[in-house]
Amino acid sequence: MRRKTPKRSATLIERIMNYYIPEPNSGCWLWEGDKDKRGYPVLAVQTDYKRKMHRIHRVMCEQAHGPLGDLHALHKCDNPYCINPDHLRPGTHQDNMKEAAERARMPRAERHPQTVLNAEKVREIRQSGMTYSQLSKKYGVAVSCIQAVKQRRTWKHVA
Ligand SMILES: [Zn+2]
Repeated sequence: MRRKTPKRSATLIERIMNYYIPEPNSGCWLWEGDKDKRGYPVLAVQTDYKRKMHRIHRVMCEQAHGPLGDLHALHKCDNPYCINPDHLRPGTHQDNMKEAAERARMPRAERHPQTVLNAEKVREIRQSGMTYSQLSKKYGVAVSCIQAVKQRRTWKHVA
């Protein structure tokens, strides 16, 4: 298992902050650094003996929403270069496909803002007797995200 020390990730975030340009209209943070073969922002960090590539939208999503585990960091803004944590949320590949299809049908103004989970909401979700889909609607996050919280695959640090 890979473990990140808080110190190293703080340094990583500081470095990330030097490589983006805020886009005032959309609120997107446009990555100016390296990109991987699929066009996603990456940053190479040299440790003692090796170079590690960090996928920036995953790092930023984890900053905002807690550990991703086996989930993907999905863009709400459809901009693969965007690293704004407010535009990223955890979800599965299926969520991504479904949302892309929904977005194609829906005018931009009708899109609902996604609510960000916090420790208090995570506790409420775990104690709640509601179904995954009811919880998904209530908190504005994907069903897979609710499942991950309930099964403690994410937010493991919350009691
Ligand atoms: Zn964005």
